[in-house]
Amino acid sequence: MPIYSAPTRDTRFVLDHVVGLERYQNIEGFTQATPDIVNAILEEGGKFAAEVLQPLNQSGDREGCTRHPDGSVTTPTGFPDAYRKYVEGGWGTLTAPAQWGGQDMPMVLGTAISEYLMSANLAFCITVMLTEGCIAALEHVASDEQKQMYLPKLVSGQWCGTMNLTEAHAGTDLGLIRTKAVPQADGTYRITGQKIFISGGDHDLAENIIHLVLAKIEGDPDNVKGISLFIVPKFLPDADGNPGTRNSLSVGSIEHKMGIAGSPTCVMNYDGATGFLVGERMKGMRGMFIMMNAARLGVGVQGLAMSEVAYQNAVQYAKDRRQGRAFVRAPGVTDAADPIIVHPDVRRMLMDMRAFTEGSRALALWTALQVDLARRAPTPEERQAADDLVALLTPVVKGYLTDLGLQITATAQQVYGGHGYVKEWGMEQFVRDARIAQIYEGTNGIQAMDLVGRKLPAEGGRAVRAFFDLVSRAIADGKAEADLAPLAEALEKALQHLQGATLWLVQNAMTKPENAGAGAVAYMNLMGVTALGWMWLIMARGAREELGNGDPEFAKAKLLTAKYFAERMLPEAGTYRRRVEAGAETLMAMPVEAF
Ligand SMILES: Cc1cc2nc3c(=O)[nH]c(=O)nc-3n(C[C@H](O)[C@H](O)[C@H](O)COP(=O)(O)OP(=O)(O)OC[C@H]3O[C@@H](n4cnc5c(N)ncnc54)[C@H](O)[C@@H]3O)c2cc1C
Repeated sequence: MPIYSAPTRDTRFVLDHVVGLERYQNIEGFTQATPDIVNAILEEGGKFAAEVLQPLNQSGDREGCTRHPDGSVTTPTGFPDAYRKYVEGGWGTLTAPAQWGGQDMPMVLGTAISEYLMSANLAFCITVMLTEGCIAALEHVASDEQKQMYLPKLVSGQWCGTMNLTEAHAGTDLGLIRTKAVPQADGTYRITGQKIFISGGDHDLAENIIHLVLAKIEGDPDNVKGISLFIVPKFLPDADGNPGTRNSLSVGSIEHKMGIAGSPTCVMNYDGATGFLVGERMKGMRGMFIMMNAARLGVGVQGLAMSEVAYQNAVQYAKDRRQGRAFVRAPGVTDAADPIIVHPDVRRMLMDMRAFTEGSRALALWTALQVDLARRAPTPEERQAADDLVALLTPVVKGYLTDLGLQITATAQQVYGGHGYVKEWGMEQFVRDARIAQIYEGTNGIQAMDLVGRKLPAEGGRAVRAFFDLVSRAIADGKAEADLAPLAEALEKALQHLQGATLWLVQNAMTKPENAGAGAVAYMNLMGVTALGWMWLIMARGAREELGNGDPEFAKAKLLTAKYFAERMLPEAGTYRRRVEAGAETLMAMPVEAF
């Protein structure tokens, strides 16, 4: 059975030295996040993850979800009870607005906890994560009456939420959706159509499910501009707001998937179901984007979460498993074989995983801080600056961290040799579960296109210039100090590659958009590795401070990992830049018939 223990020590380090949580004590929401409260939440969240969710991860994978003859869907044994404990523990209300019954804690803390929960049991967490996205969308675009009706119950966890975009012929290109909404005399709409791949489409965790559904109102343009957003509850709330009449929607089937078997992914049939328009007619994508942006950061954290749990198991195995003898053995050692952790190539795998995972945690939490600042910083200028950075980095966190998630889980599997390939050790489940994060909430290719096509040029490149500025300042500070200078110099080279590639795109992608498409993924990776290098420089500074007064062993390990990242990972920036600058010509030259 795989192990998991929440990395609270490392989270605390990032909160202290990268996020600088105490600096924001004057901001609403942060005031209550005192060091004691934060520590208690991290400890309790870690315990809940390890003791309640993790023991259900392998059994949930084996059992999967079931659609019964009456059309109802049940989750694996133990999931409903774990959900009850999740609700009772208040884990779903942590960052939700106080006005609707939430605890109003900073997103940065919510992100730390969601990493733990997802490491322990990703399949379980998908349903609750979508409810959070649903809350965010309703908070922004719903009417007051709709907020009163739905938000308290979604926040408390009594009801769950879903997100219904995808149809069989419309995934990335939502303009193609065919689900129709017909206006009724009473102001409601009749929703008809089929959605596929709907996470949490039905289950036995909550008494009601609130579906947010994209559809086109009869007569509106048959493209992305004609899309509206609707609330379509499983049970229509009665006059007292309790689940009343069953709505005309059903689960056609559940998907049999590669991973996240404990998450019910449903085909949803809407047969003239009663729906309520949310926000303005034909502005449905606005609400959905709020939900998707929140969810995209959350999916990025899934990559981190899978990396962390896979890494922990690989370390344990590498210390236990004995094969071969070390190149250099300690005097007097006569054992037939040494633990495989002595072999440089096994070390390489462990260090790769560690450097990427800890760097990813820092970037995810720093970005979550920007989400908090975009909402709550005291001045409009600060809010705008934070919002720019969130917009720029969301596709990087989603795309880069989830690509790493698959890479790292596969590397952890490799540490196990053949034992990684068989089910009993649990490593192949991590690989299968990590894979989805590259696909949903917009594939990683689409994230890269979003970064290059929309986020870079926005406001004349204001966000990317702000990002360059932040990294440049960290480099200048680092170069001024002898022990940090080598890391700062390695980061400087990566930044030069990123700036060079950005300039190349500005000069070559406007006139020939295929160049943007051809280089987008390489550019996203280039920004990702540079951002992680920047995080490692900040962390190295923090570790140096802790050397003398905190936890010297922890600090020494941080400094070594920072050095490893600078030596081994940052040089990848040069390769990514060359890929961007290779352009589209060769890539597009092959005639379709030649494939
Ligand atoms: C387990 C699971 C859970 C899901 N949960 C939900 C959910 O809760 N709600 C929901 O609405 N959907 C959900 N989805 C759907 C998911 O978001 C889509 O599968 C995803 O957005 C991709 O759409 P698609 O599968 O139609 O692929 P396509 O859009 O057909 O894409 C196929 C390939 O072409 C590429 N591509 C497409 N267009 C372009 C372009 N313009 N430029 C470059 N490349 C392009 C893509 O990157 C991809 O590699 C889920 C899917 C799965 C598998």
